[in-house]
Amino acid sequence: MYIKALVLDNFKSFGRKTKIPFYEDFTVVTGPNGSGKSNIIDGVLFALGLARTRGIRAEKLTDLIYNPGHEDDASSSGPREATVEVILDNTDRTLERSQVVNAAGSDDVGDVDEIRIRRRVKETEDNYYSYYYLNDRSVNLSDIQDLLAQAGVTPEGYNVVMQGDVTEIINMTPYARREIIDEIAGVAEFDAKKEDAFAE
Ligand code: ATP
Ligand code: MG
Repeated sequence: MYIKALVLDNFKSFGRKTKIPFYEDFTVVTGPNGSGKSNIIDGVLFALGLARTRGIRAEKLTDLIYNPGHEDDASSSGPREATVEVILDNTDRTLERSQVVNAAGSDDVGDVDEIRIRRRVKETEDNYYSYYYLNDRSVNLSDIQDLLAQAGVTPEGYNVVMQGDVTEIINMTPYARREIIDEIAGVAEFDAKKEDAFAE
């Protein structure tokens, strides 16, 4: 499974709906400073609900909505709403149809060659709302997180390696570094289960 494309709409610097394709093996994004490269990663973190733990660069969720006067802090008019969709290629069936159906709480999810995870944040006068969709079915964050965990993508995981993470790993104690390796190798899960078993 890999990210096939990302669709950003009114998200951060992407004021117009923008579809960014990714290759299966390796994709490099280049561009001048401030052109929106890191905003693309923020889009992935936002849509997959990984934002809180993996350090998305925004103080509040509504800062992620495109604001034409971003630099001079002028307030914008019109709908305050941002959407990001991550399109995963699942032709290798990393996730079985039954797993997707289960997470979506519906049979109506298509053929699951594509898994589309979409998040929308909407600002109203005195509040904001966040919505998640799985193949166009409305779901909760926990449904998305449970599904992604079955594909080895977790908020604590190192599926996304942020700037500074490498330095942090180098400066860790050997024990803490070992915990990361256990996590990536999938051993940590069994440690937790073993502890639970002993506790019983
Ligand atoms: P660098 O090479 O310096 O890392 P970058 O390509 O990663 O740059 P980003 O950090 O992705 O750049 O983009 C920063 C730009 O996004 C800034 O110009 C900032 O004004 C703009 N930006 C961030 N949030 C918003 C927003 N809500 N509305 C409009 N523009 C925004
Ligand atoms: Mg950057």
